[in-house]
Amino acid sequence: MSQLTLALHAVQAQLAEATRLSGREAGAVQLLAVSKTFPAAAVREVYAAGQRAFGENYVQELQAKAAELADLAITWHFIGPLQSNKTRIVAETAHWVHSIERLKIAERLSAQRPAHLPPLNVCVQVNVSGEESKSGCAPAEAPALLRAVAALPQLQLRGLMCIPEPTPDAATLAARFAVLRQLQAQMAAEGLVLDTLSMGMSSDMAAAVAAGSTMVRVGTAIFGARQYPA
Ligand SMILES: *Cc1c(COP(=O)(O)O)cnc(C)c1O
Repeated sequence: MSQLTLALHAVQAQLAEATRLSGREAGAVQLLAVSKTFPAAAVREVYAAGQRAFGENYVQELQAKAAELADLAITWHFIGPLQSNKTRIVAETAHWVHSIERLKIAERLSAQRPAHLPPLNVCVQVNVSGEESKSGCAPAEAPALLRAVAALPQLQLRGLMCIPEPTPDAATLAARFAVLRQLQAQMAAEGLVLDTLSMGMSSDMAAAVAAGSTMVRVGTAIFGARQYPA
């Protein structure tokens, strides 16, 4: 069995164990394999081992890999910072976008989503770490952004995403993840259902699952260390 297949199986086992330990139903947390910086051949190998959802951070890289792997039934998730001049490629290529942090980007994605494709699934990225992080909208701004995104015709609002600052402190990490859970509850109270909490990476997967994650985004633990900083 290949190194990548073994690594995928190990992560699947860790995820299953974290899910069980959190008292959640088996399969409650989806695994997104983050393939940024790794070649299409590596994605093909992980796909052959059964993985279907892959995440990319860079628009050009998403575009190139999606073209090269067009023969596979991959669900592509765009999870990186998105500038307005690159939205068209993402609207035409991705199935999901996790990194919506302002309305203008969401409006462009909705307008540019080809009519023959189903609505683009989106999550709003929330800055749960204050000054420790630059990405994501402030928690206080999230409800208004969520309402506006929910009204866009070619987008399907699915939930919330966060990237907490790296911290060895379990309580701090739990508090960061709890911000998304609280926002989800707040929106549910006004009738806006969010079925996805995209949180947890290689280093904090178990904590995220314990905090209610429904999708973990795992790169390093599957593909290995990246060759250039990303
Ligand atoms: C790179 C990246 C990941 C995966 O991180 P690992 O630590 O390699 O698991 C997850 N989410 C986002 C947004 C990323 O950019």
